[in-house]
Amino acid sequence: MKKIVFISGATKGIGNEVAQQLALHDFIVLIGARNRQHGKAAVEKLQLNGADAHFIQLDVNDESSIKFAAETISKQFGKVDVLINNAGVNYEFSSGTRPSMLSVDTLKDTFITNFFGVFAIIHHFLPLLKQAGAARIINVSSTLGSLTALSNPENFFYGVNSLAYNSSKTALNALTVSLAKDLAEDKISVNSICPGWVKTDMGTEMAPRTVEQGAAIIIKMATRNDSPTGKFLDDNGEIPW
Ligand code: NDP
Repeated sequence: MKKIVFISGATKGIGNEVAQQLALHDFIVLIGARNRQHGKAAVEKLQLNGADAHFIQLDVNDESSIKFAAETISKQFGKVDVLINNAGVNYEFSSGTRPSMLSVDTLKDTFITNFFGVFAIIHHFLPLLKQAGAARIINVSSTLGSLTALSNPENFFYGVNSLAYNSSKTALNALTVSLAKDLAEDKISVNSICPGWVKTDMGTEMAPRTVEQGAAIIIKMATRNDSPTGKFLDDNGEIPW
């Protein structure tokens, strides 16, 4: 039976690259997107290349849309083997706002997508993940969420002092640690990964890595024979929390 992967925010950037590559690994690919037009266009492009791809409308910020997406997947596919929580926002990268000047709304909005939204998806997708057997949850985090890395003044990215984005990824990592323990008895692995600094709308043209390079660690975690759990990983191995 084919494996089923759901990817949030899969119409562009790293998420879309992951969708294309997992289709080549013979997954049924469920493209999660809030924009129907973009989602359908992404699915059509994948289907033209022979992929078994389907559009699932899901706005990470809207719990009712997450519930509806889980119900739709349950009726049409019955399970999710790999859940990739990829959708994310960074409102500070372009504005360069100093942490002390950040608006409370920006902080809240960032957490709603990067943290609360991920929890809501996992919460509502849990029956689908349990149905798959040994399912995997891959949370797309960032080394910018590593307190160990950020508090080391020698690190080159010490200057990227984006309070909302960084702390939302730190919180996401806390979710990974907690749920990895909780879901071990259900044989569901939960890991955080960092794709590196990648050329996308979020990463900008200045980023040194391609989407193929950024997707590599996600593809590895989705396809490897056995999965660790409760880890924070990039291409080079474990990242300190
Ligand atoms: P992009 O900006 O290219 O893509 C982000 C995706 O998330 C888009 O598809 C966007 O959809 C979607 N999204 C945002 N908010 C929502 C929402 N409320 N509901 C549904 N979808 C939503 O970014 P990247 O591909 O670079 O980022 C992917 C992940 O990788 C993010 O979690 C990011 O934090 C992480 N990351 C990226 C790095 C980089 O250098 N690029 C570095 C480290 C981590 P829409 O088109 O509708 O806005």
